[in-house]
Amino acid sequence: MLLELIVNFCILFSFAVLSYWPFQDQVRFRMPFPNSHPYMIGIMAGITGFILMESSIQVTDTMIVDSRHVIIVIAGLFGGPIAPIISGLIIGLSRMLMYDVSPISIVAGVNAITLGLVIGGFSFKFPMNFKNAKYFFFYATIQTTILIGALLYLNNSNYMYILYFILFSTFSFFILMIILDELKNHFDQIRRIELLSETDYLTGLYNNRKFHQITKACITHEQKPFSLISIDIDHFKKVNDLYGHPVGDEIVKELAKRLKNLVSPKEGIVARNGGEQFAVLLPNAPPAMGIHMAEKIRSMVARADFPVSGDNEIGITVSVGVSSYPDNGSTLQELYGAADSAMYEAKAIGRNRVFHFTNKKA
Ligand code: GH3
Ligand code: MG
Repeated sequence: MLLELIVNFCILFSFAVLSYWPFQDQVRFRMPFPNSHPYMIGIMAGITGFILMESSIQVTDTMIVDSRHVIIVIAGLFGGPIAPIISGLIIGLSRMLMYDVSPISIVAGVNAITLGLVIGGFSFKFPMNFKNAKYFFFYATIQTTILIGALLYLNNSNYMYILYFILFSTFSFFILMIILDELKNHFDQIRRIELLSETDYLTGLYNNRKFHQITKACITHEQKPFSLISIDIDHFKKVNDLYGHPVGDEIVKELAKRLKNLVSPKEGIVARNGGEQFAVLLPNAPPAMGIHMAEKIRSMVARADFPVSGDNEIGITVSVGVSSYPDNGSTLQELYGAADSAMYEAKAIGRNRVFHFTNKKA
């Protein structure tokens, strides 16, 4: 029996890890069809339940005990409400049909289907998480224990099986929860570090490194046009000298917020290149569209003063340079250089201006 218990635990563990990693970290694993995950997890859990039953503890000729109810709970934890319903159905129907159909197999099958429906139904209202999963597990264990107890009573079998069942499922469930919780913390931490490594600490915008990475991906063989915008606050040193560095920081943050609001994620992405310099990437934007957005940015900044602490409002302006691919360069360095050079040209012709690199050459 010990061997069956160990095998049962190993099957549970394999399912939990295999369904946890790829489905919880979909970006890293590039999982296809994200909307079908609840169904895939439900089916995987159903198949795992079937394997669990194949390696279950034989109590009588027709009665088997295993931890299939744990798998239904875990399916709900990873796949949402749909997954336990599907896995309950697969496990229930296969339990009814895998051996000769008997009253015990029908009762056990109906039990699995009911567990799936109740766990799924409840998790529509109370979404399952690592904290509340234990209540779903307690429900599944109590219902199944009552059923096993009744069947053992009718078969005059050894009641010790109930104890084994409760001890083993509780052990498996909580050990799995501890391991999976650890994995989740680990992944969360990695995600936090990744986020830190690609964002700017003051504004929360993408930093230079991430921005370069995204821009690089836009340089393609098909040479689909896109535009780069370089933005620099005019006479920012004076603002710092007059109001202090913390107030300067507030302006940098407010400008970041306004840029983020102005440029929708569909249109492009905004980054802080460092200091009082920002950059915008507009994929699919030919020069005219780049200039249009640059003008929108310039006028948005000039139009409304920036509120800062102490009920003050400070008016600032920005100089904006634009470069476009493929006209102004074929490498990242060339395009950045062109956008910056256009921005300095905008400064040179009076600040609070927009300048496209192409005009400089002409
Ligand atoms: P220009 O119109 O030529 O760009 O003039 P400017 O004063 O903006 O340019 P300059 O390069 O002379 O000075 C930039 C100033 O921006 C100096 C620096 O203290 C300030 N600055 C850069 N980053 C930050 C920041 O994160 N917070 C604050 N408060 N100031 C910053
Ligand atoms: Mg400046």
